[in-house]
Amino acid sequence: MKRKAPVVKNQEFEATVIDITYEGNGVVKYEDFPIFVVNAVPGEKILVGVTKVTSNFGFGRVIRRLEESPDRNTEIDTKVLTSGVAPLAHLTYDAQLKHKQKQVADVFNKQHVDVEVLPTIGMENPWGYRNKAQIPVREINGEVTTGFYRRGSHRLQPMEDFYIQDPEIDKAIVVVRDILRKYHVAAYDEENHKGVVRTIMIRRGHYSHQMMIVLVTRAKRLPTAEFIINDIREALPEVVSIIQNVNQEKTNVIMGDTNKVLWGEKAIKDTLLGKTFAIGPNSFYQVNPEMTEVVYQNAADKAELKPTDVVIDAYSGIGTISLTIADRVKSVLGVEVVPEAVDDAKRNADINGIQNAKFELGKAEDKMAEWAADGLKPDVIFLDPPRKGLTQELIDAAVEMGPDRVVYISCNPATLARDVALFLEQGYQIKGDVQPIDQFPQTTHVESVTVLERKA
Ligand code: SAH
Repeated sequence: MKRKAPVVKNQEFEATVIDITYEGNGVVKYEDFPIFVVNAVPGEKILVGVTKVTSNFGFGRVIRRLEESPDRNTEIDTKVLTSGVAPLAHLTYDAQLKHKQKQVADVFNKQHVDVEVLPTIGMENPWGYRNKAQIPVREINGEVTTGFYRRGSHRLQPMEDFYIQDPEIDKAIVVVRDILRKYHVAAYDEENHKGVVRTIMIRRGHYSHQMMIVLVTRAKRLPTAEFIINDIREALPEVVSIIQNVNQEKTNVIMGDTNKVLWGEKAIKDTLLGKTFAIGPNSFYQVNPEMTEVVYQNAADKAELKPTDVVIDAYSGIGTISLTIADRVKSVLGVEVVPEAVDDAKRNADINGIQNAKFELGKAEDKMAEWAADGLKPDVIFLDPPRKGLTQELIDAAVEMGPDRVVYISCNPATLARDVALFLEQGYQIKGDVQPIDQFPQTTHVESVTVLERKA
């Protein structure tokens, strides 16, 4: 039944912000009707202007702030807030960490799972941490321009300081943009599916400072490539790899399947917990290395790894978890669905002289079912799935193998709590507490580590 909303568009009213959504919007109520307000902090009294009304909720904006919360970050440049790159930046960092802790606790409550969620471990300097950027390239006023899409829009906002990216990457984006301008390389025209350069992707090793520049092009040919390469090398001495990635499709997917090394290496190297990793252009690599080390360390410690442990690393990417724990256990078997990542993982095992880690290509849910049917009995299973979490098949296979411990590293609390509830139904219990770790300061993303153990 469609209920009639008690407010209409453009209506104004005073309200106190009572909550914050996982997207970082403030929540106010008009009678019992929730309205989500951008840039509003719980506890604040505001004059709300209603901007949109649906049958179950509305959206609003702050016309005037009447009382300010101590959780508001007052030192923030308003450009950050409108850019969309840092949707939690209007909260003090301490309030962000509390918000993330509460979010994890809330989803477990909702699943009726009784567990303590520890305070979020944060960063000392929660800015400029991202080691990777994917920046759209479009023409504005006849010029190649780089910037950011506002949430839900496809209009480029020019931008040079991305706040949460490694500042050296921000500088490199401007340098590459200017080189493209110099040689009149056409920016991609999305509407007509014309032009050349769609995206500039840059990765920089946090410890190694090696930089990779990827020009994602619609056309197979990159005009004046030789000049572009020379100019990039001259202006950016950290660059060890320049790659052209061809993506001819009409799609929002950023990278295509073909890479041409225009100059230098086909991967950069960086280290995590003392191990070296070659990272190719198509492979997943954690974007905040400093905090990734905290996550891995926390997970390995909580799992109480032993030299006799046989371990599975599901969703293994380029092998970072496997290879950083390999010295502490008997053997590790990784599974990953992206072929290039599996190749990187094998190469990374070689680079580090690690012989007790193997990697297989496939879907984790299929491979795990196969291994379970083959009678494989690991002691520990690491699970580090993408946002959508696990499947029932994977959980069934994991339970069938009967590991003592399951280590779940999650980037989405909602699917984590859902999946953990399924393990609890099948003879597992949570070992200790859940630990949120802030891998993505200023954004709404929440990472956490949960260890399950088999009940005696
Ligand atoms: N553990 C790695 C990667 C985690 S990200 C690290 O910490 O760096 C999740 C990984 O799962 C990605 O590499 C992605 O390519 C992979 N993936 C996604 N769906 C998968 C599936 N169904 N089976 C196996 N791997 C999958």
